Amino acid sequence: MVVNKDQYIIIVGCGRLGGYLANELSESSSNSVVVIDKNADAFERLNVSFSGFTIEADALETDVLINAKINKADVVVTTTNHDNVNIMVAQIAKSIFGVGHVIARLTDPSKEKVYEELNIETISPTALSAIEFKRIIMEGR
Ligand code: AMP
Repeated sequence: MVVNKDQYIIIVGCGRLGGYLANELSESSSNSVVVIDKNADAFERLNVSFSGFTIEADALETDVLINAKINKADVVVTTTNHDNVNIMVAQIAKSIFGVGHVIARLTDPSKEKVYEELNIETISPTALSAIEFKRIIMEGR
């Protein structure tokens, strides 16, 4: 699916996943990207051409999300290395600030059902990788 509309996207966590995603999204000139990470060193992952904004702070603090203008966000993606943080920030984004599109990184795929009940969309890099490894193995390559 290709979305042509300008989107205001907040990425929580600028680690290996969030940093990569921020660089990818920033390359689409129509997107405004804000990345939040509690560790300033994480922003070194961003390309020199990254056109968005960075906020060094703990995303669990509501003031930090307000400062990131979460009330204006089209999309919030939570990509920290803590499933609980990802789900909590996703819930805050959805329930308190009414963000329309919220996606959370889920490292432990066995928790997926719980988060489905919370009506939070999740992506599990662990499960996606396992499926892809299996596909390659089954193809005998
Ligand atoms: P990685 O596991 O490489 O994808 O990195 C996860 C990133 O999430 C790291 O850069 C952490 O500093 C960041 N992180 C973890 N907890 C929080 C939090 N509460 N608020 C903001 N960033 C966080």
